[in-house]
Amino acid sequence: MPQDKPGYDDTPIIPGQTWKVHDKQRPQPRIVTPPTPSTQDAPGSAPSDAIILFNGSTLANWCGRDGAAKWKLENGYMEVVPGTGDIWTAEEFGDCQLHVEWAAPAVIKGESQGRGNSGVFIMGRYEIQVLDCYNNPTYADGTTGAIYGQWPPLVNACRKPGEWQTYDIIWLGPRFDGAKLIRPAHVTVFQNDVVIHHNKMLIGPTTHRAVEPYSPHPHTGPLKLQDHGDLVRFRNIWYRPLRDYDE
Ligand code: MG
Repeated sequence: MPQDKPGYDDTPIIPGQTWKVHDKQRPQPRIVTPPTPSTQDAPGSAPSDAIILFNGSTLANWCGRDGAAKWKLENGYMEVVPGTGDIWTAEEFGDCQLHVEWAAPAVIKGESQGRGNSGVFIMGRYEIQVLDCYNNPTYADGTTGAIYGQWPPLVNACRKPGEWQTYDIIWLGPRFDGAKLIRPAHVTVFQNDVVIHHNKMLIGPTTHRAVEPYSPHPHTGPLKLQDHGDLVRFRNIWYRPLRDYDE
């Protein structure tokens, strides 16, 4: 006789859980169609349950300081228009898996922080640095993939300028109880599939030449991309809210 549900009901409870070992009543994981990988020529697809923030066709869901985002949109990517300012998503979100692709300008110009500088600001406050550090030294906590001003990446996994690169980020935002910090933010980052931060704790919002403590804010915020005056491109940006296990 086939079982109605595979599993067992005569096994011990797993410590700290309500389920038994191999519990036949335990819910199945939701089905997600995985993404297809990007190539240098074309972005891949997002996982089926991802929320698309930028698919290369419109900036309608992005905001700038004068209302609309004023960056250039062409050939499936957006590019910083220097002087138009940072742009951010209308969508606000918190703990997540975030995917961002970017490319530094193929024409090498400037050095240190002046070469291919932009930034991925999670919740609008916490910067994962975007910079061309392919043969471009700068201060360690400001290199490509740095938690800016706090932690250098574990390694330099940069591709050449002009080539598309990926950030895959697992973000756990801070939690506040009134004015009190009860959980600092933690981040895991892969650059080009290489881990560059592993569950790293942020000391507060990222800033320049300073240390800034946490101040209370909501559990959600926009994704902000930085206009640092360089012609950095972005494509294929999506996130998945981090959920707990199905109960
Ligand atoms: Mg930056």
